[in-house]
Amino acid sequence: MQMIEHPVQHLLAASGPGPDATLPPRPDAAAREPSLARNSSASSARVNLLEYDRQGLRDLFAQLDEKPYRAEQVMKWIYHRHATDFAQMTDVGKRLRSKLEAVAEIVPPKTLFEKQAADATYKWLLGMDGGNAVETVFIPESGRGTLCVSSQIGCGLNCRFCSTGTQGFNRNLSSAEIIGQVFVAAKHLGNVPHQQRKLTNVVMMGMGEPLLNFDNVVRAMSVMRDDLGFGLANKRVTLSTAGLVPMIDKLGEVADVSLAVSLHAPNDELRTQIVPLNKKYPIAELLGACQRFAARRPRTTITFEYTMLKGVNDKPEHARQLVKLMRQVPGKVNLIPFNTFAGTQFERSDKTTIRGFQKTLLDAGVLTMVRRTRGDDIDAACGQLKGQVLDRTRRQAEFRRRIEEGARHAA
Ligand code: SAH
Repeated sequence: MQMIEHPVQHLLAASGPGPDATLPPRPDAAAREPSLARNSSASSARVNLLEYDRQGLRDLFAQLDEKPYRAEQVMKWIYHRHATDFAQMTDVGKRLRSKLEAVAEIVPPKTLFEKQAADATYKWLLGMDGGNAVETVFIPESGRGTLCVSSQIGCGLNCRFCSTGTQGFNRNLSSAEIIGQVFVAAKHLGNVPHQQRKLTNVVMMGMGEPLLNFDNVVRAMSVMRDDLGFGLANKRVTLSTAGLVPMIDKLGEVADVSLAVSLHAPNDELRTQIVPLNKKYPIAELLGACQRFAARRPRTTITFEYTMLKGVNDKPEHARQLVKLMRQVPGKVNLIPFNTFAGTQFERSDKTTIRGFQKTLLDAGVLTMVRRTRGDDIDAACGQLKGQVLDRTRRQAEFRRRIEEGARHAA
């Protein structure tokens, strides 16, 4: 037999502290959710087939001296029928099945915790290795079901109003860990692509900055859109970024997906305060990248996300500045009422302020929606996602210290 490369070993090497690492206490949700015990999705030296897109699987099968159509058969078993056991793949042939059993496995992340909100939003805490976990959220609406997927364990960007930012950063998720989130949700929902479609949209708006994990995210998004994968239409897979200009250009070159940009402020001074990445890639450069992205796809509309923070970015002059920016790009605005979390200094703008802000934009011809807050009773709303992050930065400890200091002052 030929040797095949074992990406799982790279994963193990890159996956941070081992299975015995203990979980640091969390300031808020710790009481509600179970602590993370041993759980490793990359537990053996066999390759995890969730790691590959269609071409990758074909190449892997070629190395096994198998025809490409066999790879496609297996792909369909995985993503259309949620098979994790080669024995289930009855039309694959015994000889190939035992060959696959020897070198490969299908291992989605482990569900550590799952919970449904009053509005039917569903949240999973998925264990990725010994101590890290991320959150994935499903938002059912009439006629559509959107899954919010994480791309990293924690986030390195530190946007001031985002709860993920307070947890620091551990590592990028592998493709298997990204597509594995969709797999867990699809299996739970009984989703069958092209037939029983429960899952219609995926937004890369969970934990992390997807463009800082470019290759793995692009590969996973290719499985989301592949007919033999989850079969989603290109425009129904959305990548959201805080604005990494060169990577937006790269994305435009390699993947046909929808783009959302976390803008949150209409001028550089304010944006740099709340989205520190703006210092590196200011608004003019960001809009330039958006224009280039849109020029490649004449029918595309870019969504600009704008979290409404009371007294910070919600004044009439901000709305007017935003109108001017929106004249430069074909885009729509999504106003997100700020979702609170323990220890934050920000507050949500009042309803009337949000409505007034929206009206200014609408009156100027800018398509503007206010995002309905979903799942906030289980901390599943935008910016509330907090997995369990073995922080490699000092941010988590610093944030906890700030909360404790605040509590001491209040006492
Ligand atoms: N890093 C990417 C992906 C995260 S998407 C990005 O920045 O786009 C999560 C979205 O929710 C972003 O638009 C983010 O800015 C927004 N968000 C973060 N914290 C929030 C909060 N507390 N309330 C409402 N929206 C928030």
